[in-house]
Amino acid sequence: MRVLIVEDEVRLADTLRDLLELNGYTADVCHDGESGLDNALSGIYDVVLLDVMLPRMDGFSVLRRLRAEKSAVPVLMLTARSETEDKVTGLDSGADYYLTKPFDPPELLACVRALTRRQPELREPEGLVCGDLRLEQEAFTLRCGERSVRLSRKEYDMLELLMRNQRLVVSKESLLVKVWGYDSEAEDNNVEVYISFLRKKLQYLRSAVKIRTIRMAGYCLEPEDGQ
Ligand code: CA
Repeated sequence: MRVLIVEDEVRLADTLRDLLELNGYTADVCHDGESGLDNALSGIYDVVLLDVMLPRMDGFSVLRRLRAEKSAVPVLMLTARSETEDKVTGLDSGADYYLTKPFDPPELLACVRALTRRQPELREPEGLVCGDLRLEQEAFTLRCGERSVRLSRKEYDMLELLMRNQRLVVSKESLLVKVWGYDSEAEDNNVEVYISFLRKKLQYLRSAVKIRTIRMAGYCLEPEDGQ
């Protein structure tokens, strides 16, 4: 699935791209309306996230041009809170859905999934596995052999991301976005605190799995010592 992000706020655009890529999408970014329209017309995108206030061509004009060119690509418009009346204009221009900024990452992902008509993500009844650990969605339980421990929601989200990327380096920023959302006040040391909670739980479980700190880069979940 390929997503086009047309958003002139560079930081928000980058955060959206990271969020989508973390969730298995390929994402490209345009910072103005004209290049957004050109790219959207390429036909390679499954969904377009379109800001309203954009340099060179505003979001509504992009959308109207897109529909005039018979493009049926699903468009999710991103509007500022003060622009609720824009929703009417946007609907008239052929938008498929709206999100009011700021939005929560889960809300955005739910919209993108709906628009791309993806099957709901398959639940993993057996849970995610890494080395001797099994992470179960039901009740946020982490198991290792006979032992098990409950995780808080944040611990669960963080460990899930690490397990889905095991043996890879996951940046603190990715963890922040995944767990707290891009517009939160949380900082790197919040991540460090939760990593230390998780390490204590791994110790309690007597798991061989380690969360390694990669200096200046992030964390890496390693199934066994020395691997
Ligand atoms: Ca804007």
